[in-house]
Amino acid sequence: MQDKCEQLLAISQKLAQLGLNKGTSGNASVRCGGGFLITPSGMIVDEMTPDSLVQMQFDGTFEQNKKPSSEWRFHRDILASRPDISAVIHTHSMFATTLACLHKDIPAFHYMIAVADGDTIRCAPYALFGSQQLSDNALTALIDRKACLLANHGMIALGYDLDDALAVAIEVENLCEQYWRILQVNSNPPLLSEAEMREVFQQFKGYGKWGI
Ligand code: 13P
Ligand code: ZN
Repeated sequence: MQDKCEQLLAISQKLAQLGLNKGTSGNASVRCGGGFLITPSGMIVDEMTPDSLVQMQFDGTFEQNKKPSSEWRFHRDILASRPDISAVIHTHSMFATTLACLHKDIPAFHYMIAVADGDTIRCAPYALFGSQQLSDNALTALIDRKACLLANHGMIALGYDLDDALAVAIEVENLCEQYWRILQVNSNPPLLSEAEMREVFQQFKGYGKWGI
């Protein structure tokens, strides 16, 4: 658990250093023991210590005198329903949030969209932050995917571990910035076909950390 606390704190600090999260925006979680560890609610990363992190169970119970992220429901529901996933990162990063506020799915405008395990990154319909409805919407948008946007809110990135979730979050933010820039020039850019994306998935099997 000590190790997991240090890893979760380090990832939260990295998200802030990279500018993917600012202030109290965003949160992260990782499987731990029979439940999961999650960042606290409403605390800026600079003030977090390993002890600020909250151990939760899948029934929604948590350590006394601590307050888990207001988004514990989608962290819990994702980890409960996706045995392939062990870490969840949520950001309000600039470009993902920009496109999420436009309610835009990201299409296959660039082959690197494959890092999210599909030929689109879906935007989940708006629901109040911290609500069960937001979790339900996110779960649907994440079917067969490692990332989604949240309308009028931000993004979620999933990983086999925390480093993997961070890598997905960085790449999704990068893709969103590229797509946003492209949209300034052409609102209907050329896209890769299904057949071209199938080839990309084949090629990815031997490609670096994505080659799983
Ligand atoms: P928490 O500080 O409760 O994790 O909330 C931040 C956030 O991003 C809510 O969507
Ligand atoms: Zn949020």
